[in-house]
Amino acid sequence: MGHKSGFVNIIGCPNVGKSTLMNAMVGEKISIITSKAQTTRHRIMGIVSGNDFQIVYSDTPGVLNPNYKLHESMMKFVSSAISDADIILFVTDIYEDTKLDSATLEKIKQATVPVILVINKVDLSTQEKLEEKTSYWKSEIPKAEIIPMSALRGFNVKYLFDRIITLLPESPAYYDKEQFTDKPEKFFVSEIIREKILKFYSKEIPYSVEVVVDAFKDEPTILKIRSEIMVARESQKGIIIGHQGKALKKVGTEARHDLEEFFQKKVFLELHVKVNKDWRDSDMQLKKFGYNL
Ligand code: GDP
Ligand code: MG
Repeated sequence: MGHKSGFVNIIGCPNVGKSTLMNAMVGEKISIITSKAQTTRHRIMGIVSGNDFQIVYSDTPGVLNPNYKLHESMMKFVSSAISDADIILFVTDIYEDTKLDSATLEKIKQATVPVILVINKVDLSTQEKLEEKTSYWKSEIPKAEIIPMSALRGFNVKYLFDRIITLLPESPAYYDKEQFTDKPEKFFVSEIIREKILKFYSKEIPYSVEVVVDAFKDEPTILKIRSEIMVARESQKGIIIGHQGKALKKVGTEARHDLEEFFQKKVFLELHVKVNKDWRDSDMQLKKFGYNL
């Protein structure tokens, strides 16, 4: 058989485990994962290549109803993920009650490409509950192939991989076989820092933050990175920095640790906090941060 290659687009509601699943399939910590919803803001590609295949995964923001401009832009990533897929990987979990919005569900039903429906987090489920979910989704999207999964424990990840290879169209590779993502190194720096902010701060803080990497100098023995943490209000700046700078220091220490692991190199990380009012609602600001409007 010839070479197989194609785009596998991962969609589903927030927090069902899309990023965890993509990372399990790609084997690199490409997409940041936390227990807070809406961690993934951009479409992120992960590429897995072998001698006779290349799978291009894309992880999308959770499907939700847009209620401010940032969400609108995120939803465009979701729409395009349905329309340009060779295989749709629709992820749900054993808890999910929030109904997928009907427009997205309709698009999935009408898709002409294969749909694989993953029921994730079965490690937390009983047989009965899984059967209930399976029959629900069978009637909702009859043409979907349903696969129970634990992305966290690795259960059925290999089986899913085999199914994807089987369903992929014959095609030459789209990307260099050495490449594992389409994002530049700076992107991972800001995602790693953002992950720490999601981890250490509560309430609206993580959603009011954007991280911009403004210097990335790869020197022979050290990687020097300077990054700005943009917040929407003065009060948020104080919270990010914390008493005697302790909170920000914690973010910096953990981020540096992960960056050193990611780049396999010593990292010097400088963090600054800056107030940038209303970045979430300004078209110009959003464009600058890479959200296509
Ligand atoms: P996303 O919003 O769909 O990308 O979801 P994430 O991948 O960020 O995962 C959300 C949360 O669910 C994280 O806390 C994960 O550790 C957790 N999670 C993901 N997959 C599994 C799984 O198979 N089992 C369990 N128990 N938790 C999982
Ligand atoms: Mg995600």
